[in-house]
Amino acid sequence: MIKPDGVQRGLVGEIISRLEKKGFILKGLKLFQCPKDLAQEHYKDLKEKPFFPKLIDYITSGPVVCMAWEGDGVVASARKLIGATNPLQAEPGTIRGDLAVQTGRNVVHGSDSPDNGKREIALWFKDGELCDWDSVQTPWLIE
Ligand code: UDP
Ligand code: MG
Repeated sequence: MIKPDGVQRGLVGEIISRLEKKGFILKGLKLFQCPKDLAQEHYKDLKEKPFFPKLIDYITSGPVVCMAWEGDGVVASARKLIGATNPLQAEPGTIRGDLAVQTGRNVVHGSDSPDNGKREIALWFKDGELCDWDSVQTPWLIE
C-alpha cells in the first residue's frame, strides 16, 4: 500500500513501477480513503504502541493506493524492495531508502508474511475488486 505521503508527494508511479519492473504481477489496485476503523483493524497488533494514535491519523490523513501483487516469494521480496521501517536505516536502492527520511512518513506498507498478506487483501479489497488475469510476461519471467 502506498501511504498518504507517497500519494501527496507524487510517488505513486515510481513505487508501482519498481514492483512492476521486478516482475511481480498486479492483481488489484485502487485509490482509497481509509476510514479510522479499518486503519485500527489493519494495525491492531500495534495498538498498545505509543505511536499508534499518530499512525492511525497518518494512514487516514489522505488517500492511499491499495495494491495486490502476485509472484513467487512476493511478500519477502517486496519487503526487501521496500526496505527497513526507518528510512534512514533503509538501504539505498530500496523504496524507503531512496524516497523517505522518517519512520512516521515512510511512504509504503508491505505485508510481513503470506498469512498477513491474505488477511490484509481481504481487509482492503471487496469481492470483485481483484482481477484474475495471466500476464504475457510470465514465460519470460519464470522458466
Ligand atoms: N511506526 C511509527 N513509529 C515507530 C514504528 C512504526 O510511526 O516507532 C509506523 C511506521 O509508519 C511503520 C508502521 O508504524 O511503517 C508499522 O510499523 P511496523 O513495525 O509494522 O513497520 P513496517 O512493517 O511498516 O516496516
Ligand atoms: Mg508491519
